[in-house]
Amino acid sequence: MADKPMRCPTPVCTGWISFVKDEDGDFWGCGECGEVWFEQDDLNDAIKEIISTYEYRKPCYQKSGKNWVAAPLKKEPEDYEELVENEDYPDDDDEEEELGFYCCPTWGCFGMVVWCDDGGNPEEDDSGWYCDHCGDSWPTNEKFFKQIAKIIKRGPHRTALYEQTDEGWQPLGEPDDWERVVTKNEEPLKEEGGELF
Ligand SMILES: [Zn+2]
Ligand SMILES: [Zn+2]
Repeated sequence: MADKPMRCPTPVCTGWISFVKDEDGDFWGCGECGEVWFEQDDLNDAIKEIISTYEYRKPCYQKSGKNWVAAPLKKEPEDYEELVENEDYPDDDDEEEELGFYCCPTWGCFGMVVWCDDGGNPEEDDSGWYCDHCGDSWPTNEKFFKQIAKIIKRGPHRTALYEQTDEGWQPLGEPDDWERVVTKNEEPLKEEGGELF
């Protein structure tokens, strides 16, 4: 690929991608949105998709062999950045689901907790963290994170589920045999009111 900077093929991003040599594997990356591509094929696919979605993106790229490379900058439409900024955000439902899911921090429960904007009653502000299994809920991050801190103290097998960051506890995913681990370590299923202590 040419060394010339190339427009990032990510929707809404007006950044540039460049080729980065790295010990762990070279890649193409965008400094603006943070997207990376380790395989040229993946980058080609991303470009193919964006130019088939948005006509004005086409002049930014040209084919070199089977790969897409940067076209001369003067071909780019003058209002390129404005057009791109008005694009739709990518459909990232899958990503949100994956990122937002916590193993439920209620003792004896192996359900998953996710943030809901309203708990089924749009008349009231009953947004919060809800468990799909035991039905417990926490109206604020603060309460939810407190509960996570508590359950980690109570059961060391819980430690690997969450990671403490500047923005509070982040989920690290659900272990494969999570239901078995909980059932084995955490009888009885539920305490009074579902609350600890
Ligand atoms: Zn980008
Ligand atoms: Zn639960």
